[in-house]
Amino acid sequence: MNGTDGKDGTGPADGTDPADPAGGTDPRAAGRAARRDAAVRAAVEHGLLDSGLPLVALLDVTGIRESAADLRAAFAAVTAPGTPVLHAFAVKATPLVPVLRLLREEGIGAEVASPGELALARAAGIEPGRTVLDSPAKTTAELREALALGIAVNADNPQELARIDALTAGTEVRSPLGLRVNPQVGGGSIEALSTATATSKFGVALRDEGAREWVVRAYLDRPWLTRLHTHTGSQGIAPATMARGVAETYELAEEINRRAGRRQVDTVDIGGGLPVNFASEPAVPTYGRYARVLREAVPGLFAGRYGLVTEFGRSLLAKHGTVVTRVEYAKSAGGRPVAVTHAGVQVAARTVYAPAAWPLRIAAYDAKGRPKQGPPVVQDVAGPACFAGDLLAQGQELPLLEQGDHAAALDTGAYYFAHHYGYNSLPRPAVHGFVPDGTGGIAFALVRPAQTVEEIVTESGGAHRDALTAGPTP
Ligand SMILES: *Cc1c(COP(=O)(O)O)cnc(C)c1O
Repeated sequence: MNGTDGKDGTGPADGTDPADPAGGTDPRAAGRAARRDAAVRAAVEHGLLDSGLPLVALLDVTGIRESAADLRAAFAAVTAPGTPVLHAFAVKATPLVPVLRLLREEGIGAEVASPGELALARAAGIEPGRTVLDSPAKTTAELREALALGIAVNADNPQELARIDALTAGTEVRSPLGLRVNPQVGGGSIEALSTATATSKFGVALRDEGAREWVVRAYLDRPWLTRLHTHTGSQGIAPATMARGVAETYELAEEINRRAGRRQVDTVDIGGGLPVNFASEPAVPTYGRYARVLREAVPGLFAGRYGLVTEFGRSLLAKHGTVVTRVEYAKSAGGRPVAVTHAGVQVAARTVYAPAAWPLRIAAYDAKGRPKQGPPVVQDVAGPACFAGDLLAQGQELPLLEQGDHAAALDTGAYYFAHHYGYNSLPRPAVHGFVPDGTGGIAFALVRPAQTVEEIVTESGGAHRDALTAGPTP
């Protein structure tokens, strides 16, 4: 269930991969952990955390650059020379402009799925030619904007394709256009994230009666449809299952091109979805391993006849984010020690609401931000929200957390602190990027300021105080 039992391909907890000793390990793990410890210590010393700021999020810039480089290298190693490969970061994983800008510098584009995400990508300066729009519910206005900008668009369904027909009729189309298909290869261990089940809401369900023929005809009727898109997974899907989805998509591209008598589909967008190992430090499976699994499963896709687009999100950022919180109180209930902190449902909604599917590792630090020593004690780490289930961790073994210590929720760089949930009007924490400063210290840069109480009042209708009392009357 938690995606770390090896069955789903994430490998054993120590990060080695017996099936693939030549590259399934993560040599970056130790450096990453050391940088994180140094950053927590420095965050406490620099006052990024204090009694008034009990919660902060940290991003490891070095680690993000390393993951981007690993991704580029993994696909460069399996593609024919000269193959165009666009790695488009799934903006939803970490929708922060400076992060997108950093990835841009590392040669990574953007996959966007809403007007807000497109605006973030544009604010980061990501070029239209390196941006892909993929949402299941694009409005006509969104489509018109994307086409005007020349952004790649993957249509989700026949009705959307009809809208694109209308918008492009008689015009010169600059956007690479494609269709998303659901190869229906099956789900993974987390139902909510399984995009390739028989009844998934995404894309054209390929195995439904008549669907495949409809897709082929749709391409033959539209010479400008040159891409085919699939995204068969996210956390909890085995790389082998993802590879099957990619293989089916490739076979369909081959069929379309055969029947068209030309290389109409020139690019296959294979989506993202590489799982992240939340159980221990190493990043497994690695991009290198996934790329090799893919090439083995779908050699034709890597032979140089197709360009590639990828859309990884979680696997690029998760390992590089840490939520650090002060232990406000330490108490005991029913014999169980409970550390009451400021990190709960507002920064870890998935973990709090579905703890079995989304367990997080917690690291204990003392009041000065040094790794806490002491025998492991089974304890709960609670958040600040007013419901009993607001627990960041339940029954985790850690050195006993005491008042004034710090707790860190690891691997939270994607889908956690950048996915704020406004329960109890808790503010969005500040996000700081960090790098070793070269002299043994850590340098921080503000990525996003903490939300203020005034901002919470404003976004909660503060300017409309009398709307319901002075406004509508019977
Ligand atoms: C969410 C999503 C991604 C990224 O998924 P990750 O699991 O974060 O890698 C890529 N493509 C599409 C279409 C998505 O919806």
